[in-house]
Amino acid sequence: MAKIQTLTGAIDSSELGITLIHEHLRVRSESVAVQFPHLYDDERDFQKAVEQVLAVKERGVKTICDPTVMELGRDIRFMERVAHKTEMQIIAATGIYSYHYIPPHFQNRDIDYMADLFVRDIEAGIQNTSIRAGFLKCATDAQGVTPDVEKVIRAAARAHKQTGVPIMTHSHPASGTGLKQLDLFEDEGVDPSRVLIGHCGDTDSLEYILKVLERGPFIGMDRYGLTYPFGCSAERRNDTVVALAKRGYANKMFLSQDYCCTIDWFPPEAAQAMFPKWSMSYVIDEILPELREAGVTSEQVQEMMVDNAQRWFEGSRD
Ligand SMILES: [Zn+2]
Repeated sequence: MAKIQTLTGAIDSSELGITLIHEHLRVRSESVAVQFPHLYDDERDFQKAVEQVLAVKERGVKTICDPTVMELGRDIRFMERVAHKTEMQIIAATGIYSYHYIPPHFQNRDIDYMADLFVRDIEAGIQNTSIRAGFLKCATDAQGVTPDVEKVIRAAARAHKQTGVPIMTHSHPASGTGLKQLDLFEDEGVDPSRVLIGHCGDTDSLEYILKVLERGPFIGMDRYGLTYPFGCSAERRNDTVVALAKRGYANKMFLSQDYCCTIDWFPPEAAQAMFPKWSMSYVIDEILPELREAGVTSEQVQEMMVDNAQRWFEGSRD
């Protein structure tokens, strides 16, 4: 049992229930949103987020983990509003989402300074509220472990060691960055079973994924609905999940969509046109039935959708 901070108060890990481990209520280019606010419509964003969250609530989802952190436009009051309106258990994160660069503020200060800010989000509250982060997030993409990215990963590791909250990453399997993240976490003395290497499902290379799994972390099969250039088809994602479940790894996988209720990275509606199936309900409506059809058992679904979240937060070894 572990106490977990949601946007609307603390819960016990036994209360997590069906959990979508990686979904975004809203993603924005942070600096653009600050400088050109006329481009944005908070009310529209709010309605879209509420719609998606209520849709999965109807389908039995009890908890959503939202890894929207610095550089993804995290706005804790916006997130709180959605959580109150929907009465969904939503867990916020702290960390920095950058593939290569951090602002001069951090470039000219050390790792522990950054770690202290993450700890503040976890222990005191985010953006001068008393709403606390429940997990840590960092990212490594095709650019690899740049000096700035390394700083964020090490700061996340140190904040984890101080607070005990788990770590989620964005990784880029095509360049093997999940393994590089694990190298750094291990170097900082982090127990890999408290780490979720995100986006492993973007490759169907079992060889690569098994190398990651051998090190002991959880993995995210967490981008259902996204296809090229953000990963592969649902069919290939399913084949990988089925193969790994057969090898006994259902206790290490998370199924999610990395859905963004709104995202400003593309012109309006372009994301939905590129990825027509992408939604917060896709895994429950279409993927779970397909996986069951392909031989994944109810116990394995229970592990991927419920039990693994508890284990990731609690830190118990299996
Ligand atoms: Zn994401």
